[in-house]
Amino acid sequence: MADCIFCKIASREIQANEVARTDDAVAFRDTDPKAPTHILIIPTRHVAAVRDPSGEAGEQLLGHLLAFAATTATALGLDEGGYRIVTNTGNDAGQSVPHLHFHLLGGRRLGWPPG
Ligand code: 5GP
Ligand code: ZN
Repeated sequence: MADCIFCKIASREIQANEVARTDDAVAFRDTDPKAPTHILIIPTRHVAAVRDPSGEAGEQLLGHLLAFAATTATALGLDEGGYRIVTNTGNDAGQSVPHLHFHLLGGRRLGWPPG
């Protein structure tokens, strides 16, 4: 989608610190990390939020993103200490980029519940 920063990262029009990629997803480091390891997992195609993918293809995409986030966590050495995967949706959750993304956070003790 034009003027979507994460679409531009997916197409490599804008550079990001990529850690992994599949045909359907990209994992890259957040520029404003909230933990020692803070990765964003996005679909390469534009999807606004987690509620939007529909049908079997949508469910497959969501499953792929979650599995890819877990694989990325393993590759970055987070399994032993543990990690968190979250997705902010809409205003109350503070979603600031309207392209679906999962945050993968690890490398420190994470508080619960989130603020
Ligand atoms: P949200 O607030 O929507 O849940 O998360 C958006 C995240 O994207 C924020 O953590 C923010 O730091 C990150 N972010 C925003 N713009 C960019 C960018 O251009 N590059 C990267 N790598 N991260 C970004
Ligand atoms: Zn987009």
